[in-house]
Order: sequence, then C-alpha cells, then structure tokens
Amino acid sequence: MTGERRLPVVFPPETDERLSSWVARMASFYAMTVPEFLAELGLSGRDPFDLEWRLSDGEGALIVARTGLTVEAIQAMTFQEFTPDARMMITRKDRHHCPLCPDDVHRKSLALPWVFRCPVHGADLQDATGATLPEMLGDARMAALATHAKAGSVILNAWARGAGQGILGAPEMLAVLTARHRRASPPSLAEQPRMSLQTRRDYHEFLTMPILRQALTVVVPEYDLVAPVLAKPVRPGLYGLAQGSLLQGFALTAGIGRLVEDPVALAIAVLLASDTDGQGRVQDALRSWPLSLRRRISARLWRAKRDERDRRIAQTPTRRRQSHEYRRVQSHEYRSRIS
Ligand SMILES: [Zn+2]
Repeated sequence: MTGERRLPVVFPPETDERLSSWVARMASFYAMTVPEFLAELGLSGRDPFDLEWRLSDGEGALIVARTGLTVEAIQAMTFQEFTPDARMMITRKDRHHCPLCPDDVHRKSLALPWVFRCPVHGADLQDATGATLPEMLGDARMAALATHAKAGSVILNAWARGAGQGILGAPEMLAVLTARHRRASPPSLAEQPRMSLQTRRDYHEFLTMPILRQALTVVVPEYDLVAPVLAKPVRPGLYGLAQGSLLQGFALTAGIGRLVEDPVALAIAVLLASDTDGQGRVQDALRSWPLSLRRRISARLWRAKRDERDRRIAQTPTRRRQSHEYRRVQSHEYRSRIS
C-alpha cells in the first residue's frame, strides 16, 4: 500500500534524533511493527539501520511523499556526513543513557563513543550500571580531564566527518594510546581490592592474572588510578573507542586531547615508561606519525636517556638498592620534568 496519500499524523523529528528512532516512534503510534511501517512508506524489506546510514534520493522522496517532512529534515536524521571508516563507531542502541531523555527518543550523538553529555539536556551520561563519569573519576580528576576530553571530541568529530584534523589524526593517536608499552603483569597492590588473607588465597588466580599494560595509563594516569583492574585494558586502535566502556571512551578521548597538545613530550614519557619489548611496540605505533614529529621525539629521547644515564652514574653507590618501586618513581620524575 504505497499511495501518495499523506499519513494523518506525522511526528516532527526530535533534536538530533536518528532515523531508526523516528521510524520506531511512528510505527508504534500506528500500532505497527517497524517492517510494517517501512512497507507503508514504500520501503518494504529495508533495514532501518542501513537506511539511516545512507538514504538514497529515491528512498528520501518516498518518505517525503508520505510524511510531508522536508528532504533536509529526513537526511538530518541519517549519518550521511560520516565517512565509511567511522561507521564502526555508530552503535544501533544508545551507548550510554541520559536520565532526562524520553525512552523512545534516540539521538545520533548518543551512538558515538566520544559524547559524554546529552546534547539536549547537558546531563552527564550514565553507563549500564547507572554510574556517571564524575562519580567514577571524582570531581578533581574530572576537572583535570575535561578540557582535554573536549579537545579530543573535536578531533574525533572532525575525523568521523572526514574533515582536516591537523598534523596528527585520531587513528594514529589511538594506535599509540593502545600500544602495550610494558609486558602484561598481575594487579599491583594498589590495583587490588582490599581482601583478607583467606580471600587472597581464594582469589589467587585473579591476583596472578596478567593484565595488559598500555600507553593510555601513562598519558591519562587518572584513568589508571580509577579503572577497575580487569576492565583496564582497552582494545587496540579504533576498536578501543568503538567497543570501549563509558570510562574507556572518556580516557581515550582525553588521551587524544592531551597527545595533540604536546605529542613529543607525551611520546617520550611513554617510551621512558616502557620496557624493552614495549618500546618496540610503541615505536611501531609511532611509525604512523609524521616524520617531523618522529625526528623531534628521537632527538629528545636520546637526550633524556643520556641524562638518565648520567644521573645513574652519579648515584652509583645506591644503585644496588634500586628496587622496582624506585625505578617507577624515577621514570615518573622524568615525565614531569620533560612535560
Ligand atoms: Zn537527554
């Protein structure tokens, strides 16, 4: 049944609403299933998620004819401005939850992993457990990360839309952030939940389980401190964002914002915090960075290593007592001195 007749009731799209959401609301109003409603529009057999990704002129015209909405209003509900590379970032359901949005309205922004506030209500988004980022991070860490997260979101929005992103692109930065800079190691004391001796024996397997160690924890130490140890590792590269939790997406986005501000100093901080194999993996990831940046990183890394050697020589009498803890502190000192 595809006459030119207009539907008697047509909902105007909500702000930033995606086509699949609008179609579902309309179908529900007419007490139809989504496939039935699409057939009513002359789009039988079509997948609403394919339609909202790319809507052809002909498909758009069918919806215009039955609804009286403008072509622009309908295309605005699609992801037509996104490049094919960014499709992996778009989830079918909202990634996170705005407590103030109606349950049946799904906005385009909420399908993206670098959006942390509702574009309409400004509310902090909640993860599946109802937790928000300020609750997970605490106000001080949240404040320290907010501007970097904002800068990272700008870069990711530009990347998703194929716009220019300056000297470093989002995928190149994510490759470094997700690089395994140290060998996997069991949860440190600081990372372990408080447990009795008996519980520690019972959970021996957990306490000895090797956890992946990634450069993200060097660039965003706030994340390292608050992320639950088993949920700390992120997937490599773009998948870290596409398949990450609310906290992981925020940390990666803030990491991008920090990297773009001072890529050389942060790359060196990561390399100095790396073990031998990890340094090779970080260097591999850095190969996608522009040559001019890589040259500056090499030059400053050489100087930083020379300074560290000189300092170790000056401290020779105490070297024997140098513990793992001491080395960690030392590399941390380097990080703050260089940045
Ligand atoms: Zn909302």
